[in-house]
Formats: sequence, C-alpha cells, structure tokens
Amino acid sequence: MRKQYDAIWLNAQIATCEQGYGLIQQAGIAVRDGRIAWVGPVAELPYDPEKLAAVIHDCNGRCLTPGLIDCHTHLVFAGNRAHEFEMRLQGATYEEIARQGGGIQSTVSATRSASEEVLFQQSLARARDLQKSGVTTLEIKSGYGLDWPTELKMLRVAKRIEDTLPLTVSKTFLGAHTFPPEFRSNPDAYVDLLCQEMIPVVAREQLADAVDVFCEKIAFSLEQTKRVFASAAEHGLKVKCHAEQLSDMGGTTLAASYQALSVDHLEHVGVPGVKALEQSGSVAVLLPGAFYFLRETKLPPVELLRRHRIPIAVATDCNPGTSPVTSLLMIMNMACTLFRLTPSEALEAVTRHAAQALGMSALRGTLTAGKAADMAVWEVSHPAELVYYLGNNPLRQLIRQGKVVF
Ligand SMILES: [Zn+2]
Repeated sequence: MRKQYDAIWLNAQIATCEQGYGLIQQAGIAVRDGRIAWVGPVAELPYDPEKLAAVIHDCNGRCLTPGLIDCHTHLVFAGNRAHEFEMRLQGATYEEIARQGGGIQSTVSATRSASEEVLFQQSLARARDLQKSGVTTLEIKSGYGLDWPTELKMLRVAKRIEDTLPLTVSKTFLGAHTFPPEFRSNPDAYVDLLCQEMIPVVAREQLADAVDVFCEKIAFSLEQTKRVFASAAEHGLKVKCHAEQLSDMGGTTLAASYQALSVDHLEHVGVPGVKALEQSGSVAVLLPGAFYFLRETKLPPVELLRRHRIPIAVATDCNPGTSPVTSLLMIMNMACTLFRLTPSEALEAVTRHAAQALGMSALRGTLTAGKAADMAVWEVSHPAELVYYLGNNPLRQLIRQGKVVF
C-alpha cells in the first residue's frame, strides 16, 4: 500500500520564508506528488516517520530552505566580454570600447551569429552554475537579438534549458533592450515593429510570460516605454521594467501604472516612484552585481522602500556586460554588504519576494503545504550563514518538485 508521503526530510532547521526566516527548529518536511504535504516540528508527527513515508532523509541539523529563485537574468547570450573588461582596466574609456564594436552591440552580433546549438550549450552552462548555488527557478530575458529570428532563437533556447534541466524557467521578452543598429536613425520604427509585430506573436504563441523594457536615456524613452507597455497590456502580457538605473526618468511610476510584476534596478528612484510601487504592489528588484561590477556609487533607497513596505527581491542580473555572475549566494552577500539588507531580507529577496516578482507566489517561494516541493539543504545550521560566507558553497542537496536533483 502506498504510504501517506513519498518522502520526508527530518531533523532540519527549516526556514519556511513565510515571514522573515520563518524558522522551525528540529523540523521535518514531507512531500507527496511533488508538492509539500506537511511541514512542522518533528515532535508533532503522529506516527513514526517509517510508517508515514517511503523515503527518509536525515538532515542532521542542517538548514533547509526553499529552492532559490533568480528573478532577473540575461543568461542566454553568446561569447563574453572579458576582453572589454581587460581593456577598461588598461585605461580604455567606454566610448573607445564602443567605437571598436564593443559594448552591448558586440553581444548582439555574437548572439545573432551563433548557431542555436552553440547558444544553447553556452547558456546551459550558466544555468547549471546557478543551479549549483541552490536555484530551482529562474527568469531568462531575450534582448540580445533585437531582430525577430534571434529573439525567437533566444526564447527557444530558454525553453530548451527548462526542458533539459530540472529547473522552472520564466521567460521574458526584452526586445526593448536597446535599439538595433538597423534602426539607429529611426528608433520609433523599431518600437512600431515591437508593438505591431513581435508582441502580438509573443502573446499568441505564449513564447514569454512577460514583456520588459529598458527605460533609460541611453535606451527607451518614457514615451516609447509607454507604447510597449500598452501593447503588452492589450495582448494580455504582464510587464516588467529596467528603471531608474542611471537616472530618475519616471519609468517606475509608469510601470506601476501598468501593475508591473516588478521594477528592477531603482538606484535613482525617488519618493513618487516608491509611492507608485506601494499602490501597484509591484516588487522592487535590486541588482547588486551590476552596481558592484560598474563600481556605481548611487545606492538604491532601501530605507525608503522599507518604509513603504515594498517587497524587495534581489537577483544576479547575469549578463556579459555589467554582471557576469552565476552565484545567487554571492549576490545575497552583496545585497547585505553593499545595499545593507539584513540577512533575513536577503533570503526573502531570493525566495518569497522573487516568486512574487515572477507572478509565481501561489506555487513557489515559501515552504508551505500545497506549494511545489522545491527545496535546498545546506551545510549550515542557521540561514544567516548562507549570506555571511563569501565565495563558499554549502549546498548539500537540491530538490525540485519533490525529486532530489543532486
Ligand atoms: Zn537586466
């Protein structure tokens, strides 16, 4: 006869992340059909675990958390920009690098010319790295094609990563990342293409879960961003926004008016933007990897976000130009050291709030009965240690939908 649970993990320090750490000491968690069936103190189990579960895992006092969620990545790209990194450190300016074909344009060229197989293999390696830091759900944006064939290729690769690895992938269409060289002299024609041709197909064929725009002086204006959001809304797609990274343009308020799932970066956001987030319930996604790599100095207004009770997520922003990072643990540490999040906020930022930023709260982000059994077991005895160590990887076991990945 089938037992009540497929498997049970015992003797763990469980951080449910339902509120703060949501710590339960000497706890257990039981799984059935890929979902969490029970979580609580081991002493409250009605029978011996052997009677209840087919498989028993003893955590020996280790910490068990939800699988981590990286809610903002650009990890599908070809090539890398290590050469530019080297040039910059030898004294070259951004303009000099751009004039030699560097910057985002070099990634667009490399991604356009890479075969789908090469793009897949290079991107898969990065997704695997993230998985090794405890990630069970991740978001992937398009946006290095800026033409239809390559944007489609990127979205197919993102789907293939999900089909290959035991990972949940949320796909975001970021055709509005920057303007392609072909449209440099007529950028509004590219916005027409996005709104009239690409977004309707993305929606109809369910190629992505959301539409994102890089709203910035060097990218899409507020008016152009609004046109893209209006098209997304018209076709039933949720929106996200890269906003207020380099200046306060009002992208946050605009995105909030479209009930954005999240608004990301936010270093330069002011009081009106934060109040708009409070109204819309959008998540503020902070990206300390880019802040670090670019040696930025303008900090996002964390205290203001706290005061208005805006849910804060953090993510790797994995991308070749400004955040070549594939460890979410490292990013949690940076969120604390650079942005002064508390370790408890940093853990919520990659679990509960990150799930909210992807519209996945119903099924992921906390260890709650009924949700997907995505979990990580760590060689630490308190979750603060996950954030405290830098460059260490204490992951001992990763579980996705009740099955042990490794
Ligand atoms: Zn980004």
